[in-house]
Amino acid sequence: MPASKPVRLPKHPDPAQTLKFNFLPSFPSSPSLRAASPMALIVQKYGGTSVGSLDRIRNVAARVKRTRDQGNQVVAVVSAMSGMTDNLIKMAKELAENPSERELDVLLATGEQQSIALLTIALNELGVPATSITGSQAGIHTTGSHTRGRIMHMDPSLMQGFLDEGKSLVVAGFQGVTPGGMIHTLGRGGSDLTAIAVAAALKADVCQILTDVDGVYTCDPRVVKNARKLPEISYDEMLEMASSGSKVMQSRSVEFAKKFGVVFEVCSSLNDNPGTLVLEEHPNMENVVIRGVSIERSQARITLTGIPDQPGMSGLILGALGDAEINLDMIVANIAHDGLARHSFTMHSSDLGKAQAALKPVLAALAPNSKIETEAGIAKLSAVGIGMRSHSGVAATMFKALGAAGINIGMISTSEIKIAVTVDEQRIEDAARAVHDAFDLDKAPA
Ligand code: ASP
Ligand code: MG
Repeated sequence: MPASKPVRLPKHPDPAQTLKFNFLPSFPSSPSLRAASPMALIVQKYGGTSVGSLDRIRNVAARVKRTRDQGNQVVAVVSAMSGMTDNLIKMAKELAENPSERELDVLLATGEQQSIALLTIALNELGVPATSITGSQAGIHTTGSHTRGRIMHMDPSLMQGFLDEGKSLVVAGFQGVTPGGMIHTLGRGGSDLTAIAVAAALKADVCQILTDVDGVYTCDPRVVKNARKLPEISYDEMLEMASSGSKVMQSRSVEFAKKFGVVFEVCSSLNDNPGTLVLEEHPNMENVVIRGVSIERSQARITLTGIPDQPGMSGLILGALGDAEINLDMIVANIAHDGLARHSFTMHSSDLGKAQAALKPVLAALAPNSKIETEAGIAKLSAVGIGMRSHSGVAATMFKALGAAGINIGMISTSEIKIAVTVDEQRIEDAARAVHDAFDLDKAPA
């Protein structure tokens, strides 16, 4: 079997069917999905790095052609060339501190339009009949304010027409059209969302997110040398990993894929190795307690002491931070002692100064005897796995491993499928290795 045959994914169920997903008697796992599949419709998303130069665009064209030559229909969804979107924003900001968001949409959408035209030209040059398609032509109907579009409705009829004529399509990521016909972008990283939505609308057999990593790993392989590429990961685990620092793709597109049951594969744009399938959990998924460990550096903590133990206090304090647009991560409050409570929260360290400034006036008014204590230079370690729902002692194993490595735990927070701790940033890599080892994440479960 040639290595280059893409995975044929199970047909994604409609949302109603997703509920029944767990009860399917057997769900094919990725190796068997790699069998040759006659005439599959394949959506391939290429990110900015993959189309970052003309040579790379030629490589992408060759890959699209190869996929097509194997008898598949191909829809390539592409980002702007790497750095392009940032550059366009920079130019706009040089002209105005607050450029109109409508005009930003018009401007930013040009990045993807360059890529689709260039890739289509390269494909035509290889003899592939291909057509470029903008977001509006792809029938991506959006709502919401400019620069933050949300997809409301998809009308793939124009794309379907071209596919029926035997054309390959090159679709502009990150853009759609408002009900009033205006150009609308989908938020940074939005090409992932376009790919998932196009795959859903066209009922594609395969949706591949081709990127510069070749899959989702049990931990960052630059940190943990024996990290293992996962054959599969559930949507929920992928979302938790992304929000804890292992960002492979835009979280909103993973949520969208989950909602519409789009199974997709994260794989390398540089080779044809199998990547990682992202899908609803199913009984044949590797049976593990912890799927992976993610780390997030550059975190900071604020602890407030001496907060009066009264209704409304937490709301007012967090409200001030929310108004200052500070994204809090962990929030931990302790039972009050002597009528005084203690709150701790973490955030990105670049927000620390802004957070302190936002808190000062509220605390002066509400809690004159309170104190603000800050700590920068911390990092967060999260262990994620749906297996946690049905296993006990997971936190104990994790904390013992950290203790044995002489690593002090700062804060602890948990969700149904995640245990997160803060540690001294200098020890984060040791911490990741200790936890990775404690759960034997380098070994595929039997
Ligand atoms: N070009 C857009 C961005 O840089 C969309 C994308 O790359 O997915 O955010
Ligand atoms: Mg991108």
